[in-house]
Amino acid sequence: MHMKYMIAIDVKSGGCRRTKRRTPPHQEDVMSHSPPQAIYVAGRWRKPATDELIDVVDPTTEELLARVPRCSPADADLAVEAAHAAQEDWAQVPQPERIGAVGALLKALEARADRLTEAVVDDVGTPLRIADKLQTHLPLAAVTGFLDAARGVEDPVRIGNSTVRRSPVGVVAAITPWNYPLLQTLGKVVPALLSGSTVVLKPSEVAPLVPYLLAEAVAEAGLPPGVFNLLSGLGPEVGAALAGHPDVDMVSFTGSIQGGQAVAAAAAPGIKRVALELGGKSAAVVLPGADLERAVKATVSSCLLNSGQTCLALTRLIVPRAQYSEAVEQAAALAARFTPGDPRDPGTKQGPLVSAAQRARVRGFIDRAAADGARIAAGGSRAPEGLDRGFFVRPTVVADVDADAEIAQEEVFGPVLVVLPHDGPDDAIRIADGTRYGLSGAVWGPDEESAVALARRLRTGQVDINGGAFNPAAPFGGMKLSGTGREFGRFGLEEYYQLQSLQH
Ligand code: NAD
Repeated sequence: MHMKYMIAIDVKSGGCRRTKRRTPPHQEDVMSHSPPQAIYVAGRWRKPATDELIDVVDPTTEELLARVPRCSPADADLAVEAAHAAQEDWAQVPQPERIGAVGALLKALEARADRLTEAVVDDVGTPLRIADKLQTHLPLAAVTGFLDAARGVEDPVRIGNSTVRRSPVGVVAAITPWNYPLLQTLGKVVPALLSGSTVVLKPSEVAPLVPYLLAEAVAEAGLPPGVFNLLSGLGPEVGAALAGHPDVDMVSFTGSIQGGQAVAAAAAPGIKRVALELGGKSAAVVLPGADLERAVKATVSSCLLNSGQTCLALTRLIVPRAQYSEAVEQAAALAARFTPGDPRDPGTKQGPLVSAAQRARVRGFIDRAAADGARIAAGGSRAPEGLDRGFFVRPTVVADVDADAEIAQEEVFGPVLVVLPHDGPDDAIRIADGTRYGLSGAVWGPDEESAVALARRLRTGQVDINGGAFNPAAPFGGMKLSGTGREFGRFGLEEYYQLQSLQH
């Protein structure tokens, strides 16, 4: 069976080597991809405790893309032991040297930027035309943000008769999802390393290829053995083992609410620090007098980005009642232009969803909304025409539902926008804040001042004002059930320190 990403484990040396297969020339590059059937622990590739593997499926072709180890709690023990053993020495490394080491990692990542992009297109289905910028270079810019932040850390500081110093949090278990694999892993690994902490990364089993390339870059950058370790496997097995491990000091988790609750519960007996970046149902609020056309366009683009599999996607468009019909019409027309297709085709604006399960889940939401009387103004749950393979869902706009309907309350994590009317700023805030989430948002006002005034009243972690762009150095994270803790930049780095006060 041919798999695009396959390398055998050299059991004798404990390392990985390329399989010596006769391959046609066009497959030679393929063989240089990272080694998915091993784990990276204590500075080397090794065979996991069991031979069990997890299939990684190409969401566009539904073919097998790779197989990665289904690690066991025994592998988690080994990786935590390696991280624990390395942590004290890593903490003693002077900060400029740690900054230098992360700089070397950044260079190693930059050197494989094309492979990172190719892997995310293959594994997640992000369209090639945006993947390079969104999935590769934005995360690399976030590393630069962390490096700048680390250079600016003032340590120690004097407060009265105290010297307050930062020390690393210790061993960090980083558990990440599949939708932005490089951004989400670097958002945890880099600040942990800069703080002097060490890491065990457990990426999503659904899209593990990019994290494997990250491990390859770590190896090339020459980071000391044990400061970064990579395991693959299932959340309730190896993720849970990490979250409850007595030698793990912090769990940084990005994923679903249910996953976050499980991790927090597993971490509670050990009183570990827990950072949770969970889901969202973010709202774009349009005030009277705002540029409706721009607002609708930006909201549709945000909602459909990465096939709607973006935690901060703006998935509810809340517009003045007088402009409701116009907004629905505009949104439907724009959504219809995002024709799903092969993400490897440079013309494609929307790829597939990541998995069959995700597609079924999204279609279920659309079907239930329609059955409850919603108007499907664009798209729908039927497969897009001409695409009988691949986990595709048509960009969908849902109208004429109550703000408390399931489709307007729950995170769909697919290309589905709900348009709702409001009767003034207070009503808009009531609707925008009327879900259990509080991750992101947008406000469009007739001027910046009125938009900012409304944004400040929203209970959500970030708000884009009149089209403000995502900033990878600004703190990112949620309120309410969207999570706890902040990632990226200066504030993201702070999460990985603990403070010690010396009175003298
Ligand atoms: P998920 O919760 O199923 O999985 C996320 C990670 O947690 C995976 O590595 C998984 O293996 C692991 N996991 C699952 N159950 C676990 C358990 N019981 N113990 C330990 N680990 C466990 O989420 P997903 O389907 O991969 O990702 C989609 C979700 O992630 C969406 O809800 C989305 O909003 C959210 N998300 C949030 C952010 C953010 O920054 N706020 C970013 C991206 C995705």
